Amino acid sequence: MLLTISTTHQPATDLGFLLHKHPDRFQSFELSFGASHVFYPEANEQRCTACLMLDVDPVEMARGRRRQQNSALAHYVNDRPYVASSFMSTAISQVLGSALAGRCKDRPDLVETPLPLEVMIEVLPVKGGENFLRSIFEPLGYEVETQLHVLDENFKEWGDSPYFSVKLSNTVTLTKLLNHLYVLIPVFDNQKHYFVGRDELNKLLTKGEGWLASHPEKEAIARRYLKFQPSLFRQALARLAEEEGAAEQSDDAQQQPEDALEQPLSLNDQRLGAVMAALRSAGAKRIVDLGCGEGKLLRELLKDKQFAEILGMDVSIRSLEIASRRLKIDDLPSFQAERIKLMHGSLMYRDKRLFGFDAAAVVEVIEHLDPPRLSAFERVLFQHAKPQTIVLTTPNAEYNEMWETLPAGKFRHSDHRFEWTRDEFQSWSTGIGDRFGYLVRFVPVGPEDDKLGPPTQMGVFTRE
Ligand code: SAH
Repeated sequence: MLLTISTTHQPATDLGFLLHKHPDRFQSFELSFGASHVFYPEANEQRCTACLMLDVDPVEMARGRRRQQNSALAHYVNDRPYVASSFMSTAISQVLGSALAGRCKDRPDLVETPLPLEVMIEVLPVKGGENFLRSIFEPLGYEVETQLHVLDENFKEWGDSPYFSVKLSNTVTLTKLLNHLYVLIPVFDNQKHYFVGRDELNKLLTKGEGWLASHPEKEAIARRYLKFQPSLFRQALARLAEEEGAAEQSDDAQQQPEDALEQPLSLNDQRLGAVMAALRSAGAKRIVDLGCGEGKLLRELLKDKQFAEILGMDVSIRSLEIASRRLKIDDLPSFQAERIKLMHGSLMYRDKRLFGFDAAAVVEVIEHLDPPRLSAFERVLFQHAKPQTIVLTTPNAEYNEMWETLPAGKFRHSDHRFEWTRDEFQSWSTGIGDRFGYLVRFVPVGPEDDKLGPPTQMGVFTRE
């Protein structure tokens, strides 16, 4: 199976920089379903063509398979080695990962530059025919040329196959083009060759960022990409609608840049989910949310009866006012009102009101503290308040390069005083554990990158 990408941008060999693959070299990569190779049949100043070739090993695929399929023979005799399918997307992300993410150290200017590009997909199985094919690529600005293949040249009466050769032309950045192919190639195919879970939902939303929400066929794309799993499909549509419409107006202007950056992943939801899970499994009943901000976690805590007493604390009166309004604290029925309180306070000062809780949550707060004052916070929480469980999250600085909209070296939020790598966070946390008698375990939050780790890191501290 062959995918070729050509450009007539001058000098055309710039394509090699963008793909991070030297035009003079033939390179091979081992993937879980076989091998893939990258090579350039032509590379001169006027025109450069890169090929991504997949060598899918059907036997290896069958061995790796755990799920029961219709017939045993289909494991070995199938079209997978010959067509562009989700395997092609996997190869794009694993072999051309930097180009897909829009990273190019040598020529960053090129990443942003729309180039005249031509793509040839040798064989694409298309459920839905040519009209569907065009309805997917044309709204994205592609000129589409297709050639439909008959089932068998020797038996024309058997009619057409579902297989097309497809040529796409567009002037577009290479990153955009690769993201389009990554999402769209599996959409034409009707076969499911991998488990579709939340992971796939996140991939769809990150790779579809900036174009899928406004695509006229976004529903068909999401439904097919997620292989007709209704619950994932509904979530995808909700998030796409969110992306397209204006984001919910945040009263606190300061919070906006961070939210906007993280919104496509809805990292915020995943973080809240992870924190809630840790608090639940600790069996905590009395919880204090330190640096509660506008009360997102408090709202979740209120929904779960396990949490009998909930205290939100923040240094910002304005945030507390917003939290109070959003949670409708003044209008809660009395049984709810008794469970929750908000208080003004600072993590810099020892405070008796923080004593006696089962658990404390400190969600995306420490990076707002000045490093020289961190030790004051450590004593306030780990030495004086010392709840049984502390659930603490902070950004993973390594992951920042995954956000296309975040300039290199910048923090995710203008008020962040620092952002830590995984090593920095883990050594800080284990140091605290040793000094104040807590065991700590680390939990990744959000879609994890093989090299860069997850976007958010979470430490769950348990008092020994
Ligand atoms: N936990 C919330 C808010 C995170 S933003 C959420 O996840 O949405 C960081 C919050 O920490 C802000 O609301 C800020 O006012 C608060 N904060 C910063 N320094 C603080 C301090 N010294 N004491 C208490 N809260 C503080």
